[in-house]
Amino acid sequence: MTSRHRHRVVIRGIVQGVGFRPAMHRHAASLGLAGFVGNDGAGVFVEVEGELSKIDAFVEGLAAAAPPLAVIDDVAVTELAAGGAEGFRIVDSDTSASTTTLVAPDIAPCDDCLAELLDPADRRYRYPFVNCTNCGPRYSIVRSVPYDRATTTMAGFVMCAGCAAEYEDPSDRRFHAEPTCCPACGPSLTLRTRDAVLGAGDVIGELVARLREGSIAAVKGLGGYHLACDARNEEAVASLRSRKDREEKPFALLVGSVEEARAIADVSAVEADLLVDPARPIVLLARRVDAGVAPSVAPRNGSLGAMLAPTPLHVLLVEAFGGPLVLTSGNRSSEPIVTDDDDAIERLDGIADVFCTHDRPIHVRVDDSVTRVVGDRQIVIRRARGLAPRPARVLARFPRHTLACGAQLKSTVCLGRDDVAFVSQHLGDLENHETYLAFRQAVDHLGALFGVDPMVVAHDLHPDMASTAHAQDLAAAEGLDLVGVQHHHAHIASCLADNEADGPVIGLAFDGLGLGVDGTLWGGEVLHADLARAARLGHLASVPMPGGDMAVREPWRMALAHLAGVLEADALAVTDVFERNRERWDAVASMVRSGVNAPLTSSVGRLFDAVAAIVGVRDEVTYEGQAAIELEQAVDLTESGSYPVAISADGPFLVDTGPIVRGVADDVRAGVAAPTVAGRFHNAVVDLMVAAARRARETTGLATVALSGGVFQNALLLARAVPALSGCGFEVLTHRRFPANDGGISLGQAVVVAGRDRVDA
Ligand code: ZN
Ligand code: ZN
Ligand code: FE
Repeated sequence: MTSRHRHRVVIRGIVQGVGFRPAMHRHAASLGLAGFVGNDGAGVFVEVEGELSKIDAFVEGLAAAAPPLAVIDDVAVTELAAGGAEGFRIVDSDTSASTTTLVAPDIAPCDDCLAELLDPADRRYRYPFVNCTNCGPRYSIVRSVPYDRATTTMAGFVMCAGCAAEYEDPSDRRFHAEPTCCPACGPSLTLRTRDAVLGAGDVIGELVARLREGSIAAVKGLGGYHLACDARNEEAVASLRSRKDREEKPFALLVGSVEEARAIADVSAVEADLLVDPARPIVLLARRVDAGVAPSVAPRNGSLGAMLAPTPLHVLLVEAFGGPLVLTSGNRSSEPIVTDDDDAIERLDGIADVFCTHDRPIHVRVDDSVTRVVGDRQIVIRRARGLAPRPARVLARFPRHTLACGAQLKSTVCLGRDDVAFVSQHLGDLENHETYLAFRQAVDHLGALFGVDPMVVAHDLHPDMASTAHAQDLAAAEGLDLVGVQHHHAHIASCLADNEADGPVIGLAFDGLGLGVDGTLWGGEVLHADLARAARLGHLASVPMPGGDMAVREPWRMALAHLAGVLEADALAVTDVFERNRERWDAVASMVRSGVNAPLTSSVGRLFDAVAAIVGVRDEVTYEGQAAIELEQAVDLTESGSYPVAISADGPFLVDTGPIVRGVADDVRAGVAAPTVAGRFHNAVVDLMVAAARRARETTGLATVALSGGVFQNALLLARAVPALSGCGFEVLTHRRFPANDGGISLGQAVVVAGRDRVDA
């Protein structure tokens, strides 16, 4: 008789609420092993007994046997005495332990659920809330932990006998699927206007009929309400724009399939994979000339944001409609997306003609995620539904539970403990009071979900950010340590964390604006950075920002500031940008000369603005980043020319942008086409990066470059900069799972705290 062995296997990560125990049950049974599997505060534990070779095969095959939504962080195996166990059981959860369950993101319907949804013989045929352990709502419905039906917004729905039987059967796909339900026992749809319920019968059919007539509908999704209308109906889309008070920022589209996406945009293989990813992000695609969508969907924009149905409700909707639908956040202009039903009626009345709602409450507001592809890789522009709150493993263990309050415009918060960082979903602009409240809720909710009780709180150096004020208040009220982290150090640290690296590196932090340690506004920084420290090796030469914030909204002001440094008055007076803005030119020019109301900035984002205006792409913007986005889209991809880059001799070195701006202005005056100039400018920025990195390598000996900051959402720039730097012998770190923009700042702040704690220890 072969000798029996018994091993205990402890698995940590996202292993609860994702069907992990039944998967382990099947895995052990297939190998003929005895024992049991259960949940506890740390994750999932398995005890397997049998032949040693079978136990080894169990551990080796564990990752492959895990269910699709699971994320395994760590597997620990210990040996026990064999006890003559027979059969394999799933044991009850030990909920007494201090639970640090990792809650999974919300996930689109799996293939099995989709098949049921479309099978007339199935009891969940056309049921918009079908889900199982492999898919469905998670983060948006969890009120507290341990993750259990009673702690979700499904608590109010009592399972029918059929659902309960599936829920209790370890061999069933719905074993302990907490949000499981069916038409007999689960939530249902209602179609209504502000004042009247229109029906609960064929809600989708009725909704589609109204959308075809050109109505605008509010549709309750996973993490909030959307506004929907026929993407081919210009009148409907234009009226949505005016009712929502949104000028030109593009709307996203819901499409039925990858093929439908291909009808409106170019879709590469990587982009197709991203569209069908269970997270169902919005993917920014290059629009086809014959896209056939209404001009108001994305005015003056060469790309279209498309997503496949994120829920069974959307599957039914887009299938019945049979064409692309605008699906944009249900809010007014800068307000956060609406989640509460009464609130939706109240706030979206006047925008939506009709409301498609349901009775499963949304506990956590989560916007759609936005991604795009650079080369063969995705970059995340907005990290939210489907991606948050998936944790990041960090190299620098957090010696203390840490809270980082992030920045202001694309706010996120980050909580850290042990070796994991939990970054919240995109919260939005904290200037809005509702968003600020959501920010405070996110701090409390994530802390409770993941068992983080902060002892230290990190913030940006900018005193006017609401996140900074909140950190200061919290530190004062609860006696926490307070750590200020410079904005661009946080950017580079977030890129390090994203790559599970800890430096030191040469950090190129190129973005809009962030407060520097010298009190000026930074944004074109070459840093010598690791997690604990950052030193400014060099930067773009500073120029005035005439009118401060006004210069952000009006790129022509940055054109004036940059041109004033390189052109004589008479040459300036014959530029197109001067011609277009001559009436307001002198007042702004005197701000530049006097320095009054003209703070200095080294920002690369503002340089893009200046060039966009000089080239004639855009003098004023209606949303953040618009000028740079349109300049990127204007580029003639075949253009290989560039402009000269000048770097001063002494350190900290200065990158003089004068020759670039002069080159742009000379070309424009000589009548060179805008796409050519835009192409040469992008190439010049790549040259500038390479020159700055080489200079930094000479003084530091470092050969790794980390790229972070909002400028690196520019796919063209990133796609050209990475090979250019690699070609010069640099290892290049770029963002992968977290945004290069300010959405990544909280993660960066948190790991800087960890890095400093480690140095101090
Ligand atoms: Zn499913
Ligand atoms: Zn049921
Ligand atoms: Fe930034």
